Amino acid sequence: MAYKISDECIKCGACAAGCPMSCIKEGAAKYEIDENVCIECGACAASCPVGAPKLGWVSKQCNSTDER
Ligand code: SF4
Ligand code: SF4
Repeated sequence: MAYKISDECIKCGACAAGCPMSCIKEGAAKYEIDENVCIECGACAASCPVGAPKLGWVSKQCNSTDER
């Protein structure tokens, strides 16, 4: 399990700048987390203006509050 960045990402770069493991890289459509390196510290989720980084697999119905 690791954090993953959802399609809500606006590529602002804030998460990458704050990641202690430097495991967030800019991808084609959004920023992406190397899940083999991520330590689940949560810093990316805390710094993201749109709440794109989420713990675990990105829900297909992420408008619900039932995310794990
Ligand atoms: S949870 Fe922490 S280690 Fe993982 S991508 Fe986010 S900032 Fe980096
Ligand atoms: S902080 Fe959020 S919106 Fe900005 S690049 Fe990271 S995931 Fe995307």
